Amino acid sequence: MTFETTDDLAFLPLGGTGEIGMNLNVYRLDGTLLAVDCGIGFGGSEFPEAEILVPDPAWLVERRDRLVGLVITHAHEDHLGAVASLWPLLRCPLYASPFAAAVLRRKLGEAGILGEVKLHTVPLASRLLVGPFDLQFLRVAHSVPEAQALAIRTPYGTVLHTGDWKLDADPLIGPPTDEAGFAALGREGVLAMVCDSTNALVDGFSGSEAGVRVALTELIAELKGRVAVACFATNVARVESITRAAMAAGRRVALFGRSLRNADAAARETGYFKDIPPFLDEEEAGYLPDDELLIICTGSQGEPRSALAKIAADTHPQISLGEGDTVIFSSRMIPGNEKAIMAVESALFRAGCRVITPDSEHPVHVSGHPAKEELRRLYDLVKPRHAVPVHGEWRHLQQHAALARDFGAIPHLIEDGDMLRLGPDPVEVCETVQSGKLAVDGARLLPLEGNVLGARRRMLFNGVVVGSLAVDEAGRVRGQPQISAPGLFDQGEEATNQIATDLARLVNDMPAGLRREDTALREAARTALRKAIGRRVRKRPLVELHLLRV
Ligand SMILES: [Zn+2]
Repeated sequence: MTFETTDDLAFLPLGGTGEIGMNLNVYRLDGTLLAVDCGIGFGGSEFPEAEILVPDPAWLVERRDRLVGLVITHAHEDHLGAVASLWPLLRCPLYASPFAAAVLRRKLGEAGILGEVKLHTVPLASRLLVGPFDLQFLRVAHSVPEAQALAIRTPYGTVLHTGDWKLDADPLIGPPTDEAGFAALGREGVLAMVCDSTNALVDGFSGSEAGVRVALTELIAELKGRVAVACFATNVARVESITRAAMAAGRRVALFGRSLRNADAAARETGYFKDIPPFLDEEEAGYLPDDELLIICTGSQGEPRSALAKIAADTHPQISLGEGDTVIFSSRMIPGNEKAIMAVESALFRAGCRVITPDSEHPVHVSGHPAKEELRRLYDLVKPRHAVPVHGEWRHLQQHAALARDFGAIPHLIEDGDMLRLGPDPVEVCETVQSGKLAVDGARLLPLEGNVLGARRRMLFNGVVVGSLAVDEAGRVRGQPQISAPGLFDQGEEATNQIATDLARLVNDMPAGLRREDTALREAARTALRKAIGRRVRKRPLVELHLLRV
């Protein structure tokens, strides 16, 4: 264990600056640590052997005696989805808004650790002390209720950690972004702003939720047949817009998908959906006439086990869609998910459905992140001395940095694991620490580069072969070796018999001395098996050999 006694203020991203945005940020103030957000990412096509990824918290875990808390900025999966997996390693108090706390309580409950966690529900727009960190939450509009930016006042200056945000004059749920609060911070003086870069390549403004409500209302009014709308579960304003549009068109609304039902419960618990009648469940939906039903479903990103994927594959037990029905994607394609989404769309087309995705004719989605004009507005209000673009690929960070420079801020492009000292001067990367990604594999966290996932990657592409070999005292093969090669050969396929015969012959040809010693024989037999397979499949599958001396 290391005991740095550094007197400084520093920012360290341990996730969230790369393509797979899973946020875990650390602030260090005179040696004391505060974590901000703790989210998951999806392996997607880049890491097919790992569905869910979390940031590697090793650096933080080693110093958890100095970690005073974990603050959650909002209830998106990439900001709080990893709390249940990583909290047992960190064991610090949590701070979240009422809605984010309601979402978190469910997740901690499912993980069986709710009773152990000290979860503080913080009233919106509060100011509080967590250890030496003087925190002020500022409300921002985003695609989830109760998103907040975090101002951190320290003796070295104030850091504004924006989290995800946008400007929206009419976000439908909650107030617009607190521009007056940001302006006041700007007058007070802001040392550094750590800010969202997701849409730094997009010109203009992100658009308003209110506009989406109008578009959905007009669109749904004219549709016949069954209607399904896919969107993010925690976008409570969007779910409400879809519901109101449905009700205006004489349709009742059913929720399909567990995350939607969880978000509905969290929303109602914290005072949202007040005048929305209870949603129908999946069983009830099937009994309604086509023109009187609208379903809101999960799966806008093509997730294979989601309600929409099942509907598209016609394997959903309660509902099927086809000729005359319409599916609306009230969402954008998150980079990396394009293939999966296209596959779901094609299946829906094949079934005869009309598929509507957001475009200029059907503006059924707006982003929750700031486009260039919104970024400019925030820089104009906050006037930070230093800018730290986060949340985006390198090209987004670069574009964001150029924009920050226009407003007199000095940009710092850093990557996960870079510790950026913000004070005292000079502002620069002062060390690089361990960072990376872990895969959530059932109840375990596995390093992506480790042996287990390495083996799984090989099995995925090259298959796996397991041979079982019985030999007598002298190392002569008894009976026929057994070969299983799931993912490579069918059970009982002739090739496996031939490989077994080859293996027996190769082992019987080995020198007698070698055949008497277990470890040497096992290794030699494994090599022989690998050879016998390589000759037939011209691949290098994972090869295991069990040796039994009888
Ligand atoms: Zn977000």
